[in-house]
Amino acid sequence: MGHDINKEQLTAFLDGELPSVEREAVEAHLVSCPECSAYLERVKKASSDFRQFGADKLPARLLATALALAADKKRAEDSHPALKLVLVLTAALALVLAGGLMAKHFLPGLFSQIQGMISGASAHLGQ
Ligand SMILES: [Zn+2]
Repeated sequence: MGHDINKEQLTAFLDGELPSVEREAVEAHLVSCPECSAYLERVKKASSDFRQFGADKLPARLLATALALAADKKRAEDSHPALKLVLVLTAALALVLAGGLMAKHFLPGLFSQIQGMISGASAHLGQ
């Protein structure tokens, strides 16, 4: 409520994909909106976590997707433990598909590496 920008614009902002007019609008909004600033910080922190694991440069859009999946996983663990594995696999698959080049960094042990990355990213959700 009251946000004149959306998360899609925020991630495009992080990736440097916004035209300057939109970029200025996002910057102006961030100054007055702690909620959007906090969201941006979470994506940035996740981004630096991912780089520690050897992923050179991942699009913020992909990170936002991974964070959303990790959040879903956390909720599922609370209510439906049986869904946990499915959601972990879904998140891992999304990362592998979207970040195709990452595979060569992490073979072998790809799956456990990705699980570690997801745990690291979800640690920043503040839940
Ligand atoms: Zn906002």
